[in-house]
Parts: sequence; structure tokens; C-alpha cells
Amino acid sequence: MPEYKAPIRDIKFVMQELLNCDNHYQKLGYEDASLDMVDAIISEAAKFAEQVVAPINQIGDEQGCTWTDGEVTTPDGFKDAYQQYVAGGWPTLAQSVEFGGQGLPHSLNTAITEIFSSANHSFAMYPGLSHGALATIEAHGSEQLKNQFIPKLVAGTWTGTMCLTESHCGTDLGMLRTKAELNDDGSYSLTGSKIFISAGEHDLSDNIVHIVIARIPGSPAGSKGISLFIVPKFNVTDDGDISERNAVSCGSIEHKMGINANATCVINFDGAKGYLIGEINRGLNCMFTFMNVARLGVATEGVAAAEASFQGALAYAKDRLQMRSLSGVKNPNGPADAIIVHPDVRRMLLTQKSIAEGGRALIAYLAQLVDIGHVSTCEEEKAAAETKLALLTPIAKAFLTELGLECTGHGVQVFGGHGFIKEWGMEQLMRDTKISCLYEGTTGIQALDLLARKILGSKGKILKAFASEVTIFCLENADDDAMQEFIQPIKSFGGDWQKMTEKVGARAIKNPDEIGAASVDYLMYSGYLTLAYFWAKMAKVAQDKLAEGCEDEAFYQAKIKTARFYFQRILPRAKGHAACVENGAQSMMALDADDFSF
Ligand SMILES: Cc1cc2nc3c(=O)[nH]c(=O)nc-3n(C[C@H](O)[C@H](O)[C@H](O)COP(=O)(O)OP(=O)(O)OC[C@H]3O[C@@H](n4cnc5c(N)ncnc54)[C@H](O)[C@@H]3O)c2cc1C
Repeated sequence: MPEYKAPIRDIKFVMQELLNCDNHYQKLGYEDASLDMVDAIISEAAKFAEQVVAPINQIGDEQGCTWTDGEVTTPDGFKDAYQQYVAGGWPTLAQSVEFGGQGLPHSLNTAITEIFSSANHSFAMYPGLSHGALATIEAHGSEQLKNQFIPKLVAGTWTGTMCLTESHCGTDLGMLRTKAELNDDGSYSLTGSKIFISAGEHDLSDNIVHIVIARIPGSPAGSKGISLFIVPKFNVTDDGDISERNAVSCGSIEHKMGINANATCVINFDGAKGYLIGEINRGLNCMFTFMNVARLGVATEGVAAAEASFQGALAYAKDRLQMRSLSGVKNPNGPADAIIVHPDVRRMLLTQKSIAEGGRALIAYLAQLVDIGHVSTCEEEKAAAETKLALLTPIAKAFLTELGLECTGHGVQVFGGHGFIKEWGMEQLMRDTKISCLYEGTTGIQALDLLARKILGSKGKILKAFASEVTIFCLENADDDAMQEFIQPIKSFGGDWQKMTEKVGARAIKNPDEIGAASVDYLMYSGYLTLAYFWAKMAKVAQDKLAEGCEDEAFYQAKIKTARFYFQRILPRAKGHAACVENGAQSMMALDADDFSF
């Protein structure tokens, strides 16, 4: 198993030097989030992840969760680690002070989420889902529900879930069958069965709070008739204490490709007592609060997987001796050179490094936009942040998870045949991270959200705020010769992005299938370009640091060299996606469904 070391230096670079978090936090009134405090929290999280969470990653994969008569037992060490996680106050970090949280910024929590997710994807999911549940109750629940449920979720002694999927519907939630009937006391009785519910049942917390979508009889068919409910495993008194068991049970758990230590459950509701959140039939709107938090969380998993795999591959590439360098012997005292001398191995390592570091910058930027959305008092600033988030969330979710998966494949490949062997842990990273491309909306669904709903749906207006930010950056650096290798491609790819958008929009008027045919390639193009912007910004910071003279010269030189690799060897992939978009729907739709044969 590769030994995980939290990339503290790079996290600090992104937060402090690239995104000036000190200024950002002070401006938003996060007085406790001083630089010293941020440093201390990241260092403590790193220590906990390295010493407690990472060491149970492999055993978690081997043992998996076990189901016996409706009870789920997590693998050895998980319960103890979770207790330490709660005792350390980690769940409370970015939660409201009003409910027992520490009131620190969301963006700080995001940095820590990456660390925990790299250390152990399955473990990080248990508290990860609670964040979404909390955000939903806080945004849409009544005061009574907030007081009953939030404090224990904040403390981490209870955990949350998100119950959407049913056996016949995952993407198309309008088809759901779970029903919610009104009781005399104003509560609801929920009946139905949900599948694939992450952390739906386990032995880590005293109670599990399910956030469930269901239809109230008489509501409209489809997505307009969906309402949202809190359904606890154990009922809860008005004071927020546990009372009798609710009619919720875990029917079974799935045996799956990865994240074996996170229980994926069938959850049955047999007249279970539930409480409406938000308005009747507005459930999906409320659920978007959950989904947006969760989508950024899943995007972070992509970065975390790329980073963990990179660390394993890098150590191996420096150690493994095979063949001689094409350009002359590099290790004359050994029988062969370390494989890191070979250009193809470097291609894989630099792909991982550039995606992990570029993705980290994008995620940290998005997390700051979330901070602004949470607490800014300036309506204009808030609106701009929300527009950028709406645009970039599907890009980050789909692009970073697809690239994260690719990077874990490179990790296996760098190890050669050994990468295929479980003992090394590289194949686990690949198996574990595939789910990030699937849940919280598949890549295909994110792409439709981006292109159909957001870009074409707003007639391109949603692009404006982010596009003008990029344009300003390009203008500011127009006279900087050293930046032209980054600025010129951004201008050129950015111009093509706009033309591509207009072309797809025009084609879609004649044939709506053109949107679906273009969407994933369009999203990937957008992702490569977005990451190019963040790489250019990082290169600029590094150039400035080097110009003013700094101690950590090697770090900044590496940033510029990695940026160069990204622009020369990764960004050109976007042209392939543009060509696919250009070629349109015709070849995809020409074959009749009946004529697909094997
Ligand atoms: C390990 C695991 C954990 C999960 N955790 C949770 C959880 O905690 N809570 C929860 O509610 N769910 C959870 N899920 C469910 C997950 O979110 C769904 O599996 C996912 O959203 C896809 O739904 P589906 O499986 O029904 O696939 P389908 O909706 O049947 O989709 C199948 C394929 O068709 C494509 N497709 C469907 N519609 C369209 C369209 N209009 N245009 C283009 N392509 C389309 C999809 O992209 C996909 O490739 C989990 C799943 C797994 C495997």
C-alpha cells in the first residue's frame, strides 16, 4: 500500500499564495480563520489522516462491510477511527456555531476533505454524507427540525444519508415509487425501498438520519410531485434525544467493485415516520442544496484519487530499476536506471501531478465561492459567486472524476504488472475511484446539466462571469513575455469554446439530439480549458515568487515546469473533443436501436 503523506505544501500554496485565503477570510468576517489557525488545522488533519485513517484503507477493502440480520458491521478499525474523528471535533469544523459547530469556512473543510479522501475514500464518505444532510436541513428545515436533528449531526454522533435511488430509477427520479402519507400529527408515514444508499446502515454512529425523496399521494406525476423528508433510524424526541426504533431497516448491502468499506445499502421504509422538509412537491429543489454540496465533495474525490495514486507511483518510479535511459546511463553503479528516467513513465507521473495540483486549485477556488455564497453580505458578489459555481460545479464533478480515474490507471501502469497485484494498493485506488464518475449524477448527466440546462438554457449568459474573469487575467498579463506560453493558448481555446457553444446551440434548434451528442465532449473541453486557466495562474504566482527571490525555489520551478507540461501535453487533448463536437450527432444516431447487434 503506498504510504500517504498529505500534500501540505501544495495545499498551502493553493490556499494562501494562489487564492489569498487570509484576505478572503478576513473580508468575509471569518475572524478565527487566521493563517496560523489554518496551518494548524491542516497539519493536524494531515497527522490524523496519515496515522489513523490511511492505515485502515487496505484492510477496509479486504474485509468490506458485513450484513447480519439488518445490522452492518464496518471493517476492523473503522469504529475506533470514527470515534477519534468525532472526539477530534472534525465533523464540527465548518458547521454553524449556533448548533455546536466551530463556524470555520467551508473552504478550509474542503482542503481537509481532500486529505481524508486520499487517505481512505470509504472512510471519508461516512462524514461526507452528513455534510449534505446538514446543509439541507439547515437550508430548508423548520426550526423544530433543525433543533432536533442538527446538533448531533454536527457533533458527528449521528450521521446522514441521501436516499434518492430506487431499483427502477437513478437518473430519472421522477419515476420514484416511495410514498409518504400524512399522519394525524402532521408527520408522514413513508413506504418504499431505496437502493445503493451509501452509509445507509453501519455501526459508527448512534443514529442515522435519512434524507428521503418520496411522493405524497395525489401529487403530480414526474419530478414536479417529489417531496423531501427526514426519516431517522431511531425516532427523536422534541429535545433531540433518541427514542424508539423507526420502521426503517437495511435489507442488504451490495458486493461491489470498490469502496468496500463503505456500506451501500438497500433501505426499506415500512410505514416509517418522517418529517417534511421544505414545501410539498418542492423536494427536488431542496435536494439540490444537498446535491451541490455533494457534487463538490465528489469532485474532490477525483483530485484525492489522483494525488494518492501519484504519490504511490512516484515513490515506485524512483525505486524500480528497469532498462537504461535512452539518452545515456543515469545510474552507472546499478544494474539499470530507475524507471523515472523513461519519458513515458514521466508522461504518466506528470499527468497525475498536473491533474492533482490543477484540480486542487479548481476545487479550492470553488470552495471559496461557496464561502462567499454562505456569508457575503454583498448581493452582487454573492450572485457572481453563485453563477460561477453553477457553471463550474458540473465541470469539476465530471472532469475531475474522469481524470482522477485516468490518473489511478496511470498509477497501476507505472507499477507494471505489480500494479495489478492487490498488495501494492494501486488497483484499489482505481476500483475505489470509479464510483465518483457514477454517483451524484453520472458524467453524462453532468454534461447535460452543463450544456443543456445551464449554458444553452441561459443562452450563454452563465458563461459571462467566469469568462470575464479569465479575460481580465489574460489582459493583465498581456505584456508579460514569460506568461505568453500560457496566455496565448487560453485565448485561442477560449475563443473556440465560444464558437463551439454558438454552433451547438444553433444545431440544437434543428435537432435536440445534437446537445446530447456534444455534451460530454463539450464538458471535457471546458474542463481542460478551465484547468489551463488555473495552471496559468499558478505559473504566474510561481514566476513572481522566483522574481522576488524565495527560499523554496525548487517548488516554484516545479510549478512552472508542470504548468508547461499541462499546456503542451494535456491541454491539446481538448482539440480532439472539439473535433468530436464538430462532427455532430449524425454518426451516433445513424444506427437504429434494433440494428445494434453482436
Ligand atoms: C456505490 C454506490 C453508492 C451510491 N450512493 C448513493 C446514495 O448514497 N444515495 C442515492 O440516492 N444513490 C446512490 N447511488 C446511486 C447513484 O447515484 C446512481 O446509480 C446513479 O445516479 C445512476 O443511476 P442508475 O444507476 O439508475 O443509472 P441509470 O439512470 O439507469 O443510467 C444508466 C446510464 O444511462 C445514462 N443516462 C440515463 N439517462 C440519460 C440521459 N437522459 N442522457 C444521457 N445519458 C443518460 C447514464 O449516464 C448511465 O450511463 C449510489 C450508487 C452506487 C453504485
